[in-house]
Amino acid sequence: MGSRAGYEYRYGFAAAYGGVLPLKTFGWRKKLFFEIRTNFILRKRISKEEEVIIGSERFDMILGDDFEDPTYLILWIKPRLKSYWIIPSDEIDLLLSGAFDFAKQCSSNDNDNLVIPAVVNLEICTVQIEGESIDDAFDRAISGECLEPIFLMLNFSGRNDEINKLVPSELQRFLNTRLDKVRVEDLDEGLSLMNECSICLRSPIVGSRISVLPNCGHAFHSHCIVRWFILSNLCPLCSCPGHYFPVSQDFPYLSSY
Ligand SMILES: [Zn+2]
Ligand SMILES: [Zn+2]
Repeated sequence: MGSRAGYEYRYGFAAAYGGVLPLKTFGWRKKLFFEIRTNFILRKRISKEEEVIIGSERFDMILGDDFEDPTYLILWIKPRLKSYWIIPSDEIDLLLSGAFDFAKQCSSNDNDNLVIPAVVNLEICTVQIEGESIDDAFDRAISGECLEPIFLMLNFSGRNDEINKLVPSELQRFLNTRLDKVRVEDLDEGLSLMNECSICLRSPIVGSRISVLPNCGHAFHSHCIVRWFILSNLCPLCSCPGHYFPVSQDFPYLSSY
């Protein structure tokens, strides 16, 4: 549990796994199968407070049961949880250490199965503030669509989905690590970088990330320009080169993942 003004998060652990465990790849060594299930929620202030789910995402990783500490779990999962930007860094460490301890406990209680599932149910909640319209609350709500595409961040896991394979790996690396991204901590500072993103027509909010293109100085939300750059090398405003990597030829419509 935790919060910052207008946002809250909470989480719990469960031993259930809803999908099909990839048993074949496992051999005979016991494995811990971590799955992060995130619901993005908007809490409305009406006569009785109401929560609606505005998006969700899942991702997972596998760790050998013989690992003694959660270092790798933290290393691999933390970047995504950090991109939700409302959970403090040390709280993410606590969450993932907790998930690790939970899985180890489940494992030591289970002598029948080779795959031990451990689910983190995480809720990232945007709370409508007193006097704020629901549209304004929705505009600053955290959801999968206002984050960078999850597959770009998780391609280290070796469990890429089909979409991932459609984006050339040099381009993935560029979008992931070399494209400049500034987190907006102060709204005036954010507005000085970018008044409005011309891809989505929204203004920056505290927490959003902004990319300023080095060649022309035009600025966009990082999550918007990343999706754009998967399909095109050119700045959407002035058509000067934004990167020099091969783009994806057959990527599906970009707002739906
Ligand atoms: Zn945008
Ligand atoms: Zn430009």
